[in-house]
Amino acid sequence: MIPMIAALAICWVLPVLLLIMQQQSQAAKAEALEEVSKRLRKKLVMRRPVVGGNWKCNPADPAKLEGLIANVNACSSSGCDIYICPSPLHVALVQGKLRNGAKVAPQNCNFSGCGAYTGEMAVDQMVAMGIEWCLIGHSERRGEFGLPTPGESPKLLATKLKYILDKGLKCVFCIGEPLSVRKQGISAVLSTCADQLVDILPYLDPDKVVIAYEPVWSIGTGVTASPAQAQETHAGIRAYIGQQTSDDVASRIRIQYGGSANAKNAGALSACPDVDGFLVGSASLKPEFSEIIDAVAKAKAFSML
Ligand code: PEP
Repeated sequence: MIPMIAALAICWVLPVLLLIMQQQSQAAKAEALEEVSKRLRKKLVMRRPVVGGNWKCNPADPAKLEGLIANVNACSSSGCDIYICPSPLHVALVQGKLRNGAKVAPQNCNFSGCGAYTGEMAVDQMVAMGIEWCLIGHSERRGEFGLPTPGESPKLLATKLKYILDKGLKCVFCIGEPLSVRKQGISAVLSTCADQLVDILPYLDPDKVVIAYEPVWSIGTGVTASPAQAQETHAGIRAYIGQQTSDDVASRIRIQYGGSANAKNAGALSACPDVDGFLVGSASLKPEFSEIIDAVAKAKAFSML
């Protein structure tokens, strides 16, 4: 009889107890984040918006760069910082051709200097070329485009970020959850974001690091996060940063939204107080890129007065 009760406890009671404890701890975490969020909302902080264009592995023909560069040069940078991520082969062809203060930000870098690193781009080479920004941690580098090799881990990305900052560059650091996590709800989303941020907390200097929140399910799919989803997630990320670092860092750090952002949805997303700009993929290859920049510059201009 006793072994039967013990077996029953192990099979049924224990998992239920564990589930209840897990739910309670999730609720406590959410409550703690909401407290920080409330505190941060009371701070009146102006954040200059920032929009990036990720050209990924485009265009095929370098002759098309001229048109893309002209497109960027047609954008107004008076109310918004702008950066462009050309494909690695095209970085040198774009660097020096942007005339409106827009910066070139390579899509990746290695974690140490020059030397025997075949196929890599060294931060040291970027410094020598006058490049000021570098983007890392895109979900496609974290393993989201079907490579059979392991994706870049949070630890590797933290090493890269430290190296970038040590060399005097600034960094756009991408994070974001896959669809399976989004389906579990906001606590799971924020927990995934926290896992991607925990190793870089010591390096979160708001003057040097921009976070790009890019839900994987939204990248290149045409499915954009709703303004409510984006705001809730950005506020949660900011609260997590506040909890783990300081209110000053959390309230000053810029958090971009990325994932099928375009001229149509940029206005509504820009109205979200915790959305500080966009990381734009496919629309950055089109003239509408400037409309996205104008939308966020206009929405934030009021709060910057
Ligand atoms: C991206 O590549 O970072 C991205 C957000 O792409 P898209 O805008 O095409 O979804």
